[in-house]
Amino acid sequence: MSAAERSDRAPEGTPLYVHLPFCAAKCHYCDFFSVAGEGQDGPGMVAAILAEARLRAPRRPTTVFLGGGTPSYLSEAELRALLDGLQEVTDFRASATEVTAECNPESLTLEKARLMRALGVNRVSIGFQSLQPEVLELFGRVHGVDESFRAFEHARAAGFERVNVDLIYAHPGHSRASWERDLARVLALGSEHLAAYNLSFEEETPFERWMAEGKLHPLPEELELELFALTRELTARAGRPAYEISNYAKPGEACRHNVNYWRNGEYLGLGPSAASKVGFTRSGNVRSIALYRRAIERGETAAAWSETPSPALRLAETWWLGLRLVEGVEPALARRTAGWPEDAHDVFAERAAALAEEGWLERRANAFALSARGLPLADTLARRFFELVDDPAS
Ligand code: SF4
Repeated sequence: MSAAERSDRAPEGTPLYVHLPFCAAKCHYCDFFSVAGEGQDGPGMVAAILAEARLRAPRRPTTVFLGGGTPSYLSEAELRALLDGLQEVTDFRASATEVTAECNPESLTLEKARLMRALGVNRVSIGFQSLQPEVLELFGRVHGVDESFRAFEHARAAGFERVNVDLIYAHPGHSRASWERDLARVLALGSEHLAAYNLSFEEETPFERWMAEGKLHPLPEELELELFALTRELTARAGRPAYEISNYAKPGEACRHNVNYWRNGEYLGLGPSAASKVGFTRSGNVRSIALYRRAIERGETAAAWSETPSPALRLAETWWLGLRLVEGVEPALARRTAGWPEDAHDVFAERAAALAEEGWLERRANAFALSARGLPLADTLARRFFELVDDPAS
């Protein structure tokens, strides 16, 4: 059967993620699959992604997210080919209520912002990361602070009414005073959304190596927690309260595409390394541009792995992800999401009730959410759900 005749496409309406793996340069803390774009074949990558879209992409996705990598690194011609091509295959411009593109300051020109808006993108996410020049240098970022603010202006001038700003805090040497000042400056911009992640030292990154060599020292945990609490306080005061552990938004401005991940919903990912979850099966594409393109050009799947977790594991994951959200997890909804057998005893809801008794969770309407006391311990508390997977009686 030819590729065109196969019907492996995700169900209509499935949220769509597209991974563009090129960046101006590789940041020192980053473990996403991305490479410096210089000398890479941009048009070839766009063609491969569109070929994969014809095989797998859903029709009429409810949300689209161009991530990476740096989608704004693509040339104007590549952006046009990608978005017009996706339109042809999916009709996303008629169906998606949210179409986000991740952008970096050095490549978000006014022309590109206008073009993206005209091609159906209605939300941009701009990687400021820091307002300190020496921290941008430590991070390996290739833009300056002024360029970040200019990129924000370009987004507004192009008509984007939904803009996210990404920041990283708790880096080596970070202080409360500097974070308070910089956060206030970013909040004063009035973006609808802010993502503030604490720095993590990911495997096989220069940051991990520098830490092992004693060249970089992580911030003491107490200070990291203090900066986290300060972030929640300042964002709430500025009318953009947390809706997820690291994400803050004006009412109604949460990122719909990402909220679907935290609710453990389905999604289809295109591009090298992109993950998918369709039905109860998760899969991930190969983390290699050459292998990805070779597979797609042969009309084959580029998946490097695929698995269908047990119902218990799916339910544990639904709790783990959902507890990141301020809305929390509704046990009945979690069971439906995970395909938990209707007549099976729900030990996970019992565990949630026990954690609420202990003060780590609190009840919110029909849901359980992290309490103020449980918030800094989200990962530890998630383990209390995963330990039920192998031993439901524990
Ligand atoms: S721009 Fe983003 S994706 Fe690219 S290397 Fe830096 S952090 Fe990673």
